[in-house]
Amino acid sequence: MTAGSKKQEKPKVAFFDFASCEGCQLTVVDSLQTHLDLLDAVEIVNFREAATLNGWDFDIAFVEGSITRPHDEERLRRIREQAKVLVALGACADTGCVNALKNLLPPEEVRRYVYGEHADWYETYGARPLSAVVKVDAVIPGCPIDREEFVEVVKALLVGKRPPIPDYPVCVECKLKGNVCIFHVGGICMGPVARAGCGAICPTYGDGCEGCRGIIPHPNENAMKEVLDEAGLSVDDMMHYFRMFNAYREVGVGQWE
Ligand code: SF4
Ligand code: SF4
Ligand code: SF4
Repeated sequence: MTAGSKKQEKPKVAFFDFASCEGCQLTVVDSLQTHLDLLDAVEIVNFREAATLNGWDFDIAFVEGSITRPHDEERLRRIREQAKVLVALGACADTGCVNALKNLLPPEEVRRYVYGEHADWYETYGARPLSAVVKVDAVIPGCPIDREEFVEVVKALLVGKRPPIPDYPVCVECKLKGNVCIFHVGGICMGPVARAGCGAICPTYGDGCEGCRGIIPHPNENAMKEVLDEAGLSVDDMMHYFRMFNAYREVGVGQWE
């Protein structure tokens, strides 16, 4: 390289995972296959799921998974200290997702069920989202994440913008699609309070929304109750749907304190 022609450094990006099925990282891999421009715009330095890279000098960290062991906190804090921007990748990282279902149950019962007579060998505690441990700068919601939304978030971060995550309910997208409401055919749906951005894919295919993208910032709980009342249902009837992805929001770590 000649003097004066210093090449501009690309932002360094790293991917990390905690308790998860790794489906969100797989969605990232899938998404990058058709967005090679993103690979040109960044330098990936750590991505165990897809490459033998384990660098610790990075600007943007995408972190998948819930924190389920005291030991996880140390590693997450180390990632936080290094990253200029830390992004929660997917529902496990954002809401605690299905990992937090165990928080609804007595710890000893869960530990014996999972680990049997060797329960004492394994370190585990109440599942929590990343934001319960460190500051999170942005989230990509969903179980799994939406591949196009991942691309839009990366593009926004690269130009220093706030990622465009919808804060309106799934019902908006559902009504725009002209779907018959699930409540009108005897079902239950979290659409009035669940975060949109998925194109209301579940109601579109006849299933009630379970709020995998979390709950909107200012949910209209009275409107949700009215919808339930009209359908002859109670809040308890809906909790099964709510808990699948939002148990941490309901009980925190529960009895795992
Ligand atoms: S959010 Fe869903 S798809 Fe993503 S890692 Fe967690 S369980 Fe897997
Ligand atoms: S409640 Fe569910 S099915 Fe009904 S309009 Fe809202 S998102 Fe669609
Ligand atoms: S409709 Fe609800 S459960 Fe289905 S993908 Fe969208 S937010 Fe998730």
